[in-house]
Amino acid sequence: MENTWNRSLLSSRIIFVGLLLLLAGAICVFFYGQNQALIGAQVISVEGTPDSIPPGIRRLLAAYPDYLIKGRSNAVLWKDSTWMPYDDGIVGKTYDQLLHTPDLEDQMQKEYPKGTTFTDPTAEGADTNRISYTPFFEKMYGKTQQEVLNNLATVHWLPSSRNLRLKITRVNNIHKHLQAISDELDKRPHLIKYLNAPGGTFNWRSIRGTDRRSAHGFGIAVDINVKYADYWLWDRQLGRPHRYKNRYPLEIIEIFEKHGFIWGGKWYYYDTMHFEYRPELLID
Ligand SMILES: [Zn+2]
Repeated sequence: MENTWNRSLLSSRIIFVGLLLLLAGAICVFFYGQNQALIGAQVISVEGTPDSIPPGIRRLLAAYPDYLIKGRSNAVLWKDSTWMPYDDGIVGKTYDQLLHTPDLEDQMQKEYPKGTTFTDPTAEGADTNRISYTPFFEKMYGKTQQEVLNNLATVHWLPSSRNLRLKITRVNNIHKHLQAISDELDKRPHLIKYLNAPGGTFNWRSIRGTDRRSAHGFGIAVDINVKYADYWLWDRQLGRPHRYKNRYPLEIIEIFEKHGFIWGGKWYYYDTMHFEYRPELLID
């Protein structure tokens, strides 16, 4: 008798717990559905479905979480609630048009060859990442010289050997990334000669021969020791052939890339002393 009573108590408890679980599940499904509908409403644009968010937009979102909060098929949402268009819809741009009138999509179009195995950039078409959409960088790092200056912070370059002061933006914690690079390089004495007289960081200027602002003008770039630099424009100015070469150990490049900086030594228009913070091109 007691056994039967126990059993019926047990089974009613099981039924009760089961009902509770069902209710909880139903509540979850309801709210999940609501949430999905909300996200869906924001993600789905006139251009397509949530599945159509391009990989380039996803990489931008992953690279700049302090500024970009959401993407849709053809735009990214900034924290200040403005949408920036991704693809201007113009197809078949020439290399010159890509350089001078790119959109955000053009900026993300080419793969950056991360790591130490890469082929020498032998053709303009292989040039990877000189294409940059200026409004994107202006919005993040400053439109005017004063805005960029206001964001600059000090990095102690090679603290134990040279202890120089370099100025670079604190936006996206780039000053911390560069400090980490410096601290790591500082422990490798065989590399110091390539780094001990840096060519510069912040410099309010355009890319030579263009009206486009250089990465140095946003405070996101650093040139290492000029003495070992190879730069396509110097070769041109001196009447030498345009011929890719590099005299810096790739060990340096690996360390910069690890901290979000790409290297100008992988460009057709080679600039081997040059590094700039472009984590969106290093994310897999
Ligand atoms: Zn540079």
